[in-house]
Amino acid sequence: MELVSIEQILLASFLKIEPIDARMLLQHVLNESQVFLSTHPGWRLTSQQILVFNQLVKRRAAGEPVAYLIGERDFYDLTFIVTPAVLIPRPETELLVELALERVPIEQYCRVLDLGTGSGAIAIAIAKHRPLTTVIAVDISIDAIVVASRNAKKIGVTNITIINGSWFDVMAGVKFDLIVSNPPYIAEGDPHLEQGDLRFEPKLALAAEADGLACFREIFVAAPEHLNAGGWLLVEHGYNQDAACRQLMEEVGFIRPFSLPDLAGIMRVSGGQLENNF
Ligand code: GLN
Repeated sequence: MELVSIEQILLASFLKIEPIDARMLLQHVLNESQVFLSTHPGWRLTSQQILVFNQLVKRRAAGEPVAYLIGERDFYDLTFIVTPAVLIPRPETELLVELALERVPIEQYCRVLDLGTGSGAIAIAIAKHRPLTTVIAVDISIDAIVVASRNAKKIGVTNITIINGSWFDVMAGVKFDLIVSNPPYIAEGDPHLEQGDLRFEPKLALAAEADGLACFREIFVAAPEHLNAGGWLLVEHGYNQDAACRQLMEEVGFIRPFSLPDLAGIMRVSGGQLENNF
């Protein structure tokens, strides 16, 4: 039987895929840490492990995202289950979680709504860090609801309710202190949708009409009637949508809308607050 070491199989795979991807796939196949890989270069793989790893390398070389191949992705300080039914959580979305947590006091009861929750990454990160808060997470996709529910169970949050529905349709008469959303915002027909990981992600979670602004319009118009006085709205958006988001927020009654850049310096999250006597 052929004996192949960690070092040998990694080197061979670097000809086909990025080293960082190869290491993540091998960690997954061996169920070992990054440290184990670097400290055991001579460790021999079983023939089954070689087979499984080589199949994953082939799929990665054909473009499939690493997160879908290994079935998980780290986000904030948690690890989320991901399937092709949901968008892969992105580091820039952690800004939305941080800004949300700044507005939800730790020792007070609050109500938070996450619209278009997908894997549940945003809603579950908020619920985990604010145990007294009740989080409602909504998604139109039943497949996404299944993934978000699995994540809530795995991560062990109980202060969250995950509901199937379209934006506020299932929220008649319900009010919150904070509404967050990372809706689809890429303009339909944008060539990026046909590139990289995006090709494998659900279009429903990525693309929106009206230059990608359609969902913001829908959410912003209905948000004030679902917020308590002084309540906040926070959304993630595309690199060129901050001014449009601030303007739309102002039009529907939010005061002093603001935008903040992500770590790459790209305007990524915009927010607004209702007057205290709204
Ligand atoms: N940030 C994602 C991207 O551009 C898009 C996410 C979204 O549409 N909500 O890859």
